[in-house]
Amino acid sequence: MSLSVIGTGYVGLVTSACFADLGHTVIAVDQDADRLKLLEAGRVPFYEPGLEDLLKRALRSGRITFTTDTADAVRRSEVIFITVGTPSREAGDADLSAVAAVAEVIAPALTEYRLIVEKSTVPARTGARIRDQIHLLTRGAVPFDVACNPEFLREGSAVHDFLHPDRIVLGVESERSERLLRELYAPFDCPVVVTDLSTAELIKHASNAFLAMKISYINAVANVCERVGADVRMVADGMGYDARIGRAYLDAGVGYGGSCFPKDVAAFVQLAREAGYDFRLLEEVARVNDGQRDVLLRLLKDALWVIANRTVTILGLAFKPNTDDMRGAPSVAILEALRREGAVLRAHDPAAEANARQILPYVTYFPDPYEAARGSDAVVVLTDWKEFRTLDLPRLKSLMRRPVLIDGRNILDPQAARAAGFHYAGIGR
Ligand code: NAD
Repeated sequence: MSLSVIGTGYVGLVTSACFADLGHTVIAVDQDADRLKLLEAGRVPFYEPGLEDLLKRALRSGRITFTTDTADAVRRSEVIFITVGTPSREAGDADLSAVAAVAEVIAPALTEYRLIVEKSTVPARTGARIRDQIHLLTRGAVPFDVACNPEFLREGSAVHDFLHPDRIVLGVESERSERLLRELYAPFDCPVVVTDLSTAELIKHASNAFLAMKISYINAVANVCERVGADVRMVADGMGYDARIGRAYLDAGVGYGGSCFPKDVAAFVQLAREAGYDFRLLEEVARVNDGQRDVLLRLLKDALWVIANRTVTILGLAFKPNTDDMRGAPSVAILEALRREGAVLRAHDPAAEANARQILPYVTYFPDPYEAARGSDAVVVLTDWKEFRTLDLPRLKSLMRRPVLIDGRNILDPQAARAAGFHYAGIGR
C-alpha cells in the first residue's frame, strides 16, 4: 500500500519505519527540513532503541522517502496518517492547531479517494471535525474517509510496542476504510476493536488516564505507607498478583511525566467539562502526581536540614528510562525547586544530557554517575535507568561528602543501602 505519515516525531517515525519494514511504500512528511535531512542520512534525532537500525533498513529498501511537501505526499498515497503533536494549551485542553493545519493542506490536494487516519491523540469529536472541514473545503466533490487509529506505543520500547500491540483500535465511518485498515494491519496478531470515530478517540484518552490513575493511586498508597511504616513495594507486589489488578503501573515514585500522561489527563478533564461532566477523579490524579515532587523534596530536606549551598547530585533526568525525552519530566520541577533554594546541582543521565542542557542550563553534567556524585551531600535518583539499580554503593559513598541517598523511583534495596552506611529514603517504604 502507498502511505503518507505526516509528522516524524516518536509516533510518526516509528509508524513510517515499521510500515516500510512490513513492505509498504511510505512518504514521511515533516515541516522541519533539518529533521528530514538527518532522517535521510539514516539518523534519528532522538534516542529510541532499535529505531535507527529500522530506519536504515527502510532507506536501503527504498521504501521510505522524506518530504516537506504534504500536498504532494497526499497525491501520491492511498492512506494518510496524521501523527503531529497535540500539546496542552494553557487551560489544559488539547492544542489541535497542528492537526487542523494538516487538514487544511490535505483538502485542496485531494483529487481521488483517500483515507485520512488520525493517529495523534485527540479529544473525542476531533475526527468528525476533520471530516466536516475537509468536506466543506472540497465542497463534497472528492470521496474520502476519516478514521481514527490511536497509537499505544511507549517511548523507550516504541518499535516493539508498535509491532506487538495488545490491541488495534479502528474508529471508522465506512466499510471501505475498515477494509483498508484491516488489510494494512493484517500481519499483526492481536484483537482488533472496530468502533465509530469518537469511541476510538475516547479509548485512547480513557486508557492513558487510567494508567495515570494507577500511578497516582499507588503514590497515594505510598503516602499512607510512609505514615504507618509499611512498604509500598510489597503492597504493590501483593496487589499485583491479583489478575483483576495487575502489577504494571503500580510503582510508587516521583510521579508520571512525559509528553502524554500529563497532557492527556488534562485534555480528558477538559473534554469532559466541555461535555458537561465534572471529572474530579482525574483532577485528583493530576494533583496527587504534582504532590509527589514535594514528597521527594521533603525527604531530601529531612536528610540535609537545609538545602542552600548543599551539593545535590541527580541520577536520571529523562521522564523515564530508555529515552532522552525531557518533556514533562518530574526532574525539571524538582531541579527548579532545588535551584530556588540555593542547591548546587550536578547530574548524570545516560541519554538525556543534551536535551536537559537546553532546559536546565545551571546544572553541571557528568558522563558517569560516580563522577557526578563526587563531593556531594546527597544523591537523588529520579529515573529508573537499569544501570542505577546496580550502583556500587560502597564506592558511591566513598566519593560523597554526606552519605545521603534519596531513591525517587524505589529501585534500590533499602536494607543494602543502609547496610552500606547510607541515610536512605525511598517513596513509601
Ligand atoms: P513529536 O512532537 O515528537 O512530533 C511531532 C512532529 O510533527 C514534529 O516532528 C513536528 O515538526 C511535526 N509537525 C507538526 N506540525 C506539522 C505540520 N503541520 N506538518 C508537518 N509536520 C508537522 O510528537 P509525538 O511524541 O510523536 O506525538 C505525536 C502524537 O502522538 C501526539 O498526539 C501524542 O499525544 C501521540 N502519542 C505519542 C506517544 C509518545 O510516546 N510520544 C505515544 C502515543 C501517542
